[in-house]
Amino acid sequence: MVPSSSTSSTQVTFRTTVSENIEDAVSGELMTRAVTLFPCGHTFNEDTVIQCLARNKLCPLDRRLIERHAPNYTVRHLAETAESHPLEELKHEPSEEAVGHFLRGKELAEKGEYTTAIEALLQALQLTPTYEKAQAYLEFCLKRSSKASLSSQQLPPLFTESRDKGKEKSLSSINSP
Ligand SMILES: [Zn+2]
Repeated sequence: MVPSSSTSSTQVTFRTTVSENIEDAVSGELMTRAVTLFPCGHTFNEDTVIQCLARNKLCPLDRRLIERHAPNYTVRHLAETAESHPLEELKHEPSEEAVGHFLRGKELAEKGEYTTAIEALLQALQLTPTYEKAQAYLEFCLKRSSKASLSSQQLPPLFTESRDKGKEKSLSSINSP
């Protein structure tokens, strides 16, 4: 269906692999202060290494003695890049549930049921905030629904409102002494 799907899924896999390898295996945080242990060669965030050194001086992954450690600037740079550029490719991939909500919203929008469509689209966006199609449809529905409510409300309600107010006035003037 989508012509670029194979390329984008490779990109997603690539980005996922990269991001998994720049996260600290213990804390799960991006290793913006990456430190590589010697002799085992595993890399962690400085915080994790400090904790290990304080506890038992063993690498949390292979339990080898930490003889020394050094900053890993390559991983730090990658982690910093990942931090400032969130995984856009991943976020563009909506979950199945989000797609379900979107399709329902789209169908409702096409029927002109904008209020219920907006609800469905918001549910989709709650699951996948960067769901572009859902955003586009939501924008469309919001415009349509505001136009619809404007055109149906603007003239007649103003008219009836003023008439009602007039009635109220006359009623209150009758009731009040
Ligand atoms: Zn290790």
